[in-house]
Amino acid sequence: MPPILTSIFDFLKIGPGPSSSHTIGPMKAGLDFMECIRDLPDADRLGGDSLEIHLFGSLSATGRGHGTLRAIAAGMLGNRPDTCSPGLLEECGRDDAPIDLDIGGKTIAFRIADIVMDAVQHDYPHSNTMIFRFKTGNDTLLERTYYSVGGGFLRWEGWKAPEHGEPRYPYGTMAELKQHLKDNSIRLHTLMLANEKSITGLSESAIHEGLDRITAVMENAVERGISSKGILPGSIGLKRKAQAMYNSAKKLEFQGSGFLRAINAYAMAASEENAAGHCVVTAPTCGAAGVLPAIIFMLKRHMGAQQSEIRKGLLAASAVGFLAKHNASISGAEVGCQGEVGVASAMAAALQAYARGHRFQVTENAAEIAMEHHLGLTCDPVGGYVQIPCIERNAMGAVKAYNAFLIASTLDSAYQKMDLDHAFEAMAQTGRDMSKKYKETSLGGLAVSFPEC
Ligand code: SF4
Repeated sequence: MPPILTSIFDFLKIGPGPSSSHTIGPMKAGLDFMECIRDLPDADRLGGDSLEIHLFGSLSATGRGHGTLRAIAAGMLGNRPDTCSPGLLEECGRDDAPIDLDIGGKTIAFRIADIVMDAVQHDYPHSNTMIFRFKTGNDTLLERTYYSVGGGFLRWEGWKAPEHGEPRYPYGTMAELKQHLKDNSIRLHTLMLANEKSITGLSESAIHEGLDRITAVMENAVERGISSKGILPGSIGLKRKAQAMYNSAKKLEFQGSGFLRAINAYAMAASEENAAGHCVVTAPTCGAAGVLPAIIFMLKRHMGAQQSEIRKGLLAASAVGFLAKHNASISGAEVGCQGEVGVASAMAAALQAYARGHRFQVTENAAEIAMEHHLGLTCDPVGGYVQIPCIERNAMGAVKAYNAFLIASTLDSAYQKMDLDHAFEAMAQTGRDMSKKYKETSLGGLAVSFPEC
């Protein structure tokens, strides 16, 4: 298996919701295409007078509800996902209002409403395909085909992997990773730090700062969510529930079912912020961005966990997420929700086990148990909005992560017969067998059985 070359900060990305493949990836495509136009020779660039953008696959089926069109426009206007304001997509104005795009030396007019929602079924290599054209009259001066491949990652035709340093401990499977831990007598977080340093060239303190920033964005999303009321954007008219759930937990002083209510509330809070198009962390995607924050918030607020322990937990969670991406998928459009909330739950279970100081085998078992019990989970967002089933599903994923941790940390870890590599293999195969109707197209499941109100 080729080694994993992903950086933690390419994986746990900060950006606007509600769907990393539908907002962060397309925002990056808009930004990149404008940079490509500005790189054209003057004669071509200054001769161009229009832009044509076509969306395919699940971007076409659900892009409008997911904020894809606004994300593309925001990117074309020069906004970057990790530095944009939390409410940027709400500030984009009306879809039919003209936007002046600076192409270097002149501006061209564009309207969000001109983006073409093209074929849902197509033969491009990835479901989330976008074609951008820069034109003069009917002639195309520049064309690029982009693929938003999940988790905010962007590829394009002819894309080549950027130069990376070699990982200090190369691994492509959990079995290989475990062998390094054994051979070198090191702990998981030490291995992950060493690899991050050698892949990115970052210092240990810069990596810690980055992990602390990620934690802060997650905690802010929970804080904002539990203090917000009202109706989420979109035609469903869905009311935010996190605050009411949090208040019910508080009434019970977070004891008994109050503790579980709190985990539910924290996951719903970050998910509702995501649904509102506000900033979250892809963990591993925006759609599943409530699960890890819920476990982190719970560990810090109710179990006295220190940030130094959360950092270690995030490193363990990243190892699990990397393996899922490398050997299966973290894209709902490819494998359904098992790749999003399922992987998030596995990451969160690993985070909790490792942050609480459990040994490696408990950490792997916790992740495996959480993943195993999400296999087959479909992606069928109602109306194309990351709301139903997504918000409650994040709450379920967080509670399952907590339960997976309890099972793994209570029972003898030698009893666990299934391992994480095989759980991911099963997830990839299940995803291949899953009908397209259940892969973020809103053509099946809850999306079509939802009662019209
Ligand atoms: S159902 Fe799951 S995979 Fe699909 S949009 Fe919602 S959170 Fe993402």
